Amino acid sequence: QIFSDRKNSLGLNMNIHSQADDFIAAVHQYRDKQWQGGPIVNGDVIDAHHRVAIFSPQENERQIGVINWGDKALAEQALNSANAAYRRWRDTDVEVRAKALEKLADLLEANRNELIALCSLEAGKSLQDGIDEVREAVDFCRYYAVQARKMMGEGTTLPGPTGETNELFLQGRGTFICISPWNFPLAIFLGQVSAALVTGNCVIAKPAEQTGLIAFRAVQLALEAGIPGDVLHFMPGSGAEVGSYLVSQEDIGGVCFTGSTYTAQSINRALAARTRAIVPFVAETGGQNAMLIDSTALPEQAVTDIVASAFKSAGQRCSALRVLFVQDDIADRVIELLKGAMAELEVGDPMLHETDVGPVIDGVAKSNLEQHINDISQAGRLIARANMPEYTLKGTFVAPTAIEIDSINQLVKENFGPILHVIRYKTDELDAVIDSINNTGFGLTFGIHSRNETFAADVARRIDVGNVYINRNQIGAVVGVQPFGGQGLSGTGPKAGGPHYLTRFVTEKTKTNNI
Ligand code: NAP
Repeated sequence: QIFSDRKNSLGLNMNIHSQADDFIAAVHQYRDKQWQGGPIVNGDVIDAHHRVAIFSPQENERQIGVINWGDKALAEQALNSANAAYRRWRDTDVEVRAKALEKLADLLEANRNELIALCSLEAGKSLQDGIDEVREAVDFCRYYAVQARKMMGEGTTLPGPTGETNELFLQGRGTFICISPWNFPLAIFLGQVSAALVTGNCVIAKPAEQTGLIAFRAVQLALEAGIPGDVLHFMPGSGAEVGSYLVSQEDIGGVCFTGSTYTAQSINRALAARTRAIVPFVAETGGQNAMLIDSTALPEQAVTDIVASAFKSAGQRCSALRVLFVQDDIADRVIELLKGAMAELEVGDPMLHETDVGPVIDGVAKSNLEQHINDISQAGRLIARANMPEYTLKGTFVAPTAIEIDSINQLVKENFGPILHVIRYKTDELDAVIDSINNTGFGLTFGIHSRNETFAADVARRIDVGNVYINRNQIGAVVGVQPFGGQGLSGTGPKAGGPHYLTRFVTEKTKTNNI
């Protein structure tokens, strides 16, 4: 049904050389470009005082542009303007709002090569990740346009047994503060913004510090697509300053956040301290994602999926595999194959076709991950580290690493990078394994490899997560196909790219008419 009124965007087959070569050449044209960005308030790019040079994580000496940061005063100006525009935008026909999103999707596709270059240069994404990123952003826009038409096109007529007519309407809620992370700098950024806008809310969008230039281009395209300047404002800047200021204001309509659990908890406290309207808080946060392999699994298939789940995007996906539980009987075989697969990984320049793993986002991330590898290696047994060619000295690269440990309890936090922890378990320890995964409190993704269907279904039911994947990798949820989001410490729901997502951005109004 989901596909009857919409199609997901088309990809690009990088294995067909004629297609891949033209595409790579087109993306490489942007390699030396210098981008400029800054806050956008009322459609105007503001020349703010705080200028920040952006350097690439793949080559730390390569500057790719400059972005100006907003501050509290500018954020206040944007919020006042958005609140003044809110009722006009709320009462604009949903068709107009949905069409603007569809136009934005077209513009994203038209500017795909530049956006992919930016994903690579600013966020260190591989070309394939860049393709997927733009597709996901496009799909969010088109999917939420269709969903909004269905939900908000007309009111729902309800029974009127006493002769009155009753109708239920959905309306926007005010100005949404959308705060996004750097790891999906286009798709998550626009997923939040498009959902809030199409349901009749105004938006102030705050991107992550590391990826303001991509977000700036996205907002420029949204304005070009017909979103009014007083409805969508862009506020790059520090989360601690601008972000925390915005979420603590009394006159906001809601907050849509994706990022770490720690920041979500801090925003939750700020929202609770406000004294006026209680507003929705949509939070999509981190995970301690596990995969379980039983002795019936096909080790070769499992290892292909382990490597993709743990190391694709340098492990910087919220869905990425962190802890692999392998049944004792096949553990040696799986670990042997894993070593072989990791020896094949190409770490390096993410703008090259052959690269599997690019850099991590910045020096802070790199040193935290290296510190963790150091600490956990003392308590565990190193399985393998991928080769690091000389190129990786130029940027913030971390070698994909697999370490055998004894218990998931040794992991005190989410380690957001290419580090895989492996734990052997015996058949009679299954209940304890499931409890230990649930007891982390996180609940984002979980993978199972088993050819025993009943076993796989039983484990899938017992693990408290948002997305379970059986006999495949556990990353890359597709809009409208695998609605994505977690529970517990991993988020509030509803799921992004799913049929209920927009419900959190609206308020319901019942009209009873006795005329
Ligand atoms: P982060 O440090 O929590 O930052 C996320 C955003 O929050 C950034 O824009 C940040 O601004 C802002 N921020 C920081 N402190 C704030 C405050 N006090 N008030 C308001 N905003 C504040 O997360 P990240 O490192 O960018 O992203 C990685 C995390 O995101 C991982 O934990 C990952 O699992 C999670 N994630 C989850 C999902 C999901 O769907 N569940 C998807 C992607 C990522 P600054 O940049 O200025 O600090």
